Amino acid sequence: MEPKLEELKQRLAEIYDLRRASSVLGWDQATYMPPGGAEARGRQIATLDRLAHEKFTHPTIGRMLVELRSYEGSLPYDSDEAALIRVARRDYERAVKVPSSFVAKFSAHAAATYEAWVKARPANDFAAVRPMLEKTLDYSRELANFFPGYDHIADPLIDFADYGMKAATVSALFAELRKNLVPIVQAIIAQPVADDSCIRQSFPEAQQLAFGQEVVKKLGYDFNRGRQDKTRHPFCTTFSLGDVRIATRVKENDLGDALFSTIHESGHAMYEQGIRAELEGTPLAHGTSSGVHESQSRLWENVVGRGRGFWEYFYPKLQTAFPLQLDDEPLDTFYRAINKVERSLIRTDADEVTYNLHVMIRFDLELQLLEGKLAVRDLPEAWRARYKSDLGLAAPDDRDGVLQDVHWYGGQIGGVFQGYTLGNILSAQFYEAATKAHPEIPNQIPRGEFGSLHGWLQENIYQHGSKFTANEIVKRATGQDLTIEPCIRYLRTKYGELYKLQHPE
Ligand code: ZN
Repeated sequence: MEPKLEELKQRLAEIYDLRRASSVLGWDQATYMPPGGAEARGRQIATLDRLAHEKFTHPTIGRMLVELRSYEGSLPYDSDEAALIRVARRDYERAVKVPSSFVAKFSAHAAATYEAWVKARPANDFAAVRPMLEKTLDYSRELANFFPGYDHIADPLIDFADYGMKAATVSALFAELRKNLVPIVQAIIAQPVADDSCIRQSFPEAQQLAFGQEVVKKLGYDFNRGRQDKTRHPFCTTFSLGDVRIATRVKENDLGDALFSTIHESGHAMYEQGIRAELEGTPLAHGTSSGVHESQSRLWENVVGRGRGFWEYFYPKLQTAFPLQLDDEPLDTFYRAINKVERSLIRTDADEVTYNLHVMIRFDLELQLLEGKLAVRDLPEAWRARYKSDLGLAAPDDRDGVLQDVHWYGGQIGGVFQGYTLGNILSAQFYEAATKAHPEIPNQIPRGEFGSLHGWLQENIYQHGSKFTANEIVKRATGQDLTIEPCIRYLRTKYGELYKLQHPE
């Protein structure tokens, strides 16, 4: 049976190459491509995506997967071979339900919408993208309806990103989290607002980029197998396990923006760089779900990167990089500044405590749009209303309202936001498990030693790629199913100390 598996692997490797080539074009589009390249680029990406989809959904692949079924059954569940066949089959059964013509149409539409959004956001012009977003909603519904038999129309879309999750599961989890978060937020905002003026001075771009690179190199991001470029909306993209790139943006008057997004993206990148080389070119050569992926970025960005121990090591170095700005600022002032909690308008700028409230707003709006209970034309108003009720704020314009995130303007509506909060929940759960296995980790971080933590993540999460589902990874790594308790414990402890709160119950 092995020659059959070899043949399958060869075909899958070709598809992998087409998809990664499409990623190169997407990376270039988001970094160096001149505006004149937009139209052809959209077409080129659509062509590659269509070819990959056609090759993957070819009946030969289906036949091979049928023929390999008994061989798969004879292999241990956690062998690479069994996992490869299992994951290829799951992806195949999903992909054959979506016609190639639809994939091409939607992909071209998404590329065009992205270009329109790039102009519409600074111009504060929701009307300019509204017809395209309406079309996106139609396409998103059409996509979900290729998978009939769901409980909620968002279920298939959520399942693409976070396999095994449904609208109802996520809603219940979010409701529980919200119940715990709101009292913490209220207790904090009753306190005087933290002063973050020390990170709001002018910080030259070149030094910011250099410092960020020094930090992520120390954490374990491998620049021999990666690089960093500038973009509008930070991201990480994989061309192969030997080339995992990050892109960031710099705001000269906000030291935290580039720094924490660089750490964030390097967390995604270290996950992919850590996948075992044997899995290269297979459907297992990427992170297992959007929630687990986000847990890796948030763990480094927040649990580690916004921790006091981390800055005991890095703050003197930061002061050396920016002596004029920071020499007179004590570590504690800086630590409080980077952990300032406030109700704000922009998700990507939000602190750890309020961040999930931003995600929940988007998740609920996606459900309502897909259910047909909310029309795209009423979306800006619905957005404002939710910010008013949930965060006590109203965006003065759509630029910082409904136009702020790229997701709906560069892909589908549905299933694209829950991963952020699942990631936050899991980041705390994984960190707790890592420190249980290696109690020395919290003492190593202030010495600039990240090897034990990186090693635990490598061993328990990174190396497996997509071999195991999110639920399996969480269970294997932490001994438990996904739970919000470590996240709540983490936030209560950290912010209880920072804001001197009586335990908010
Ligand atoms: Zn992320």
